Amino acid sequence: MLRIALPNKGRLSDEVRELFNDAGLEVRARGERALTASLGGEFEAIFVRAQDIPEFVADGAADAGVTGWDLVCESGRDLELLMDLEFGKCRLVVAAREESGIQKLEDIQDGVRVASSFTRLTQEFFTRRGQKVTVVPVSGATEIAPHLGIADIIVDLTSTGSTLKVNGLREVDTIIQSSARLIARKDHLPEASARLEDLRQALGSVLAARDKRYLMANVPRGVLPAVREVLPGLNGPTVVDVQGGDFVAVHSVVSVRNIYRTINTLRALGCVGILVTRIERLMP
Ligand code: AMP
Repeated sequence: MLRIALPNKGRLSDEVRELFNDAGLEVRARGERALTASLGGEFEAIFVRAQDIPEFVADGAADAGVTGWDLVCESGRDLELLMDLEFGKCRLVVAAREESGIQKLEDIQDGVRVASSFTRLTQEFFTRRGQKVTVVPVSGATEIAPHLGIADIIVDLTSTGSTLKVNGLREVDTIIQSSARLIARKDHLPEASARLEDLRQALGSVLAARDKRYLMANVPRGVLPAVREVLPGLNGPTVVDVQGGDFVAVHSVVSVRNIYRTINTLRALGCVGILVTRIERLMP
């Protein structure tokens, strides 16, 4: 039984649960507040704070985990990155008060105080640039620090930038791009490797299916070459003979962003019986 550390609350927890459920690894907890749960019988989940997950995995308390890349980098632990789950996207940025006159990193003078809960990444970033700043550790509400006079600039996470703007702050530069990642211990056992690869494939197949649809249509035989042009599919469309008729049934995987245009084209070509369904998992 492999143990997977998952965020117990916060921004990532709902999406992580949904992803595991969709992959057939339903989170079966004994109660709302349970700290552990069975994950489809194959794995056991432990629910901990997102920022503790890199430590738990690195120390062997869990074989793998899901958490933000920002937190993995901040932990400084040497972990194996198994996959980018592509949600929880955000950036760790340097921001300054609008009226501070700081437009770019070069405007930041030595001795400036930088408030952040990402003290390691902040220190490393400015040290690498040869800028001598003083890092002021805070554990939340970082945006308020410049207004309280406890720091001149901040390093904080943002996704749309709107919270920074509302607080009169301007983004100066990005330190890292983050999203939720599946991580594992570097030195996991060979038998764990195969199970983790199965897990990676399962989660990946759910993510790959999300922006795809399965399209079926009855196509007049004569327009099949034109339909092939608009329905490339994964390995080309599947074409099935419809008995005793002038139509063939065509099945294909289509990107969500092309579906509107594709249906209109198929209709214009005389296709009928067009069906579009969601795909739960996709393993090309
Ligand atoms: P939590 O503090 O438990 O809500 O989780 C925070 C994690 O969610 C961060 O470490 C990031 O990986 C991720 N995240 C995604 N978008 C944002 C955002 N706009 N602000 C802060 N964290 C975000």
